[in-house]
Amino acid sequence: MISTDRTPVTVIGVPTDRNSSFAPGAGLAPAHIREALGSPASNLCTENGVDLGEHHGWEDAGDLEIGEGSIVQPIDDAITDILDSGRRVIALGGDHAITHPIVRAVARRHAGLTILHLDAHADLYDEFEGNRESHACPFARVMEEELADRLVQVGIRTMNPHQQEQAQRFGVEIHGARLIPSIESLGLTGPLYLSVDLDVLDPSCAPGVSHPEPGGFTTREILSIIHDLPCSLVGADIVEYNPNRDQLGLTAMVAAKLLKETLANMLDGP
Ligand code: MN
Ligand code: MN
Repeated sequence: MISTDRTPVTVIGVPTDRNSSFAPGAGLAPAHIREALGSPASNLCTENGVDLGEHHGWEDAGDLEIGEGSIVQPIDDAITDILDSGRRVIALGGDHAITHPIVRAVARRHAGLTILHLDAHADLYDEFEGNRESHACPFARVMEEELADRLVQVGIRTMNPHQQEQAQRFGVEIHGARLIPSIESLGLTGPLYLSVDLDVLDPSCAPGVSHPEPGGFTTREILSIIHDLPCSLVGADIVEYNPNRDQLGLTAMVAAKLLKETLANMLDGP
């Protein structure tokens, strides 16, 4: 079990929304999140005092180029290359379909993975509108391929009978948004991967998503979860930001904030 990992971190944009089912736009997200991160409206200091502008433990490697067709092998290959160079990854989606190939690459290096998945949706569909790579399906693929020992979902508030069956089949640990679990109660251990779908937040905090679902968490509640993680992450993704639905640019600032605090965990966390 790795409790403290200080290998450097690569932030990589994965600008694809071809597996979105409702509203395109998440493919435009990485550039907007970078712009918010660099905005003079804020600074690059994290809440635990790391100045990301001075810290040499991370880099921004720009965006992946993803060709036509399935995204799975191209993303798996690109993430594997980064991991092979001795770095960890934070991926900026893109829609949530990118998580399956990213986790596949990470799981090849880290047996016994635990995934903490923050989302309004379980994303456990066997297929959605005929697409098994849909952003409604990534965690069904992850569990079928036995890429994680534990999948712990927090914030789920759209369960239906099919996904309930899938959750039971795969042994998914589901925590709704009604009661905010304390991180300690989740019993998380490393190696730990974090997947944040921005629609886990309440639309009042993060309106710029394709599937806004009222009744979600505040930004502070999500930050507290990240701050209270018991170990440094082996990888992470922040997905489903949709600039087309973010009229004030607020959600881009939220995504950039979550990126900063996730970097803080990986560079200077527990
Ligand atoms: Mn979602
Ligand atoms: Mn999702």
